[in-house]
Amino acid sequence: MRKQIAAANWKMNLTLTEGEALLDAISAKPHSLAPNQEAIFAVPFPYISMAQAKVGAKTNVYVAAQNCSNKLSGAYTGEVSVTMLQSMCVKYVVIGHSERREYFNESNELLAQKVDTCLENQTTPIFCCGEPLVIREAGTQNDYVAGQLTESLFHLPEASISKLVIAYEPIWAIGTGKTASSEQAQEMHAFIRSHIASKYGASVADSISILYGGSVKSANAVEIFGQPDVDGGLVGGASLIADEFVAIINALKK
Ligand code: PGA
Repeated sequence: MRKQIAAANWKMNLTLTEGEALLDAISAKPHSLAPNQEAIFAVPFPYISMAQAKVGAKTNVYVAAQNCSNKLSGAYTGEVSVTMLQSMCVKYVVIGHSERREYFNESNELLAQKVDTCLENQTTPIFCCGEPLVIREAGTQNDYVAGQLTESLFHLPEASISKLVIAYEPIWAIGTGKTASSEQAQEMHAFIRSHIASKYGASVADSISILYGGSVKSANAVEIFGQPDVDGGLVGGASLIADEFVAIINALKK
C-alpha cells in the first residue's frame, strides 16, 4: 500500500513562538498515524531545529524544508543546500512549489537539478506540479503537467523516481478557497500515474505517493483523500490551524 501523507506547508507564516504553539496544540489533540501514514511539517528554515525538537521523535512524523538550492555549497549568499538540511536530519524537501516557480522564476530545468541534489543526498523531494487557470480553461492541463514531469523528472533512473513524492497543486486552487473537485483531482492524479507508467512501468507508477494540494481543509479532505489515486495532501492555509490539520491527518486513508 502506498504511503498516505498529510503535509503541512507553513509557507512564510508564523513567528517562532506561534510555530511552537501550533505544534504543541497539534500534538495535544487526538490523532494517530497508521504504519502507512505520515505527517510532515514543511516549516521555514529557521524553525527546523525547533520543529524537530517538538515532533521529530514521533513515529511517522517528519520535518521538511520548503526549498533548497540546486548547489551543494559555496559562495551563494542566502541559499540553503540539501547537504545542510541532511546534516540536520531533514528527510523531505518541497521542490518546485508554484509560488517558487512564479515568484522566483524556478524553471523545470532548475528543478531537475534540485531533485538530483536531493536524491544524491538521501533526501526525498516532494515534487510539486500543477497548471495555472488559463491552462485549465484551455483544457490542456494534462499536456502542461506532463511537460513539468518529463522535463524535471524523466532523466531519473527507475530506482530514483520511485523514491519521490509528487504533489499535484492546480495553481487556481491554491489559497483561493477554490478546491478542485474530487473528480478533477482523481482524473489528474490518474493521468500523472499513467504518464509515469508510460516511461517507468505500472509498478513504479503505482508505488509513488501523489498528494493533492489547493485549499484542502477538514471539510473536503475525506472526500478528496478517498479518491483511489490521491494519497493525501499538501496543505497551506488549513495547516496553520491545529484543529484543521489534525482533522486532515485523521482523514488519511488507512
Ligand atoms: P492552500 O496551499 O492549502 O492554502 O491552498 C496549498 C499549497 O500551496 O501547498
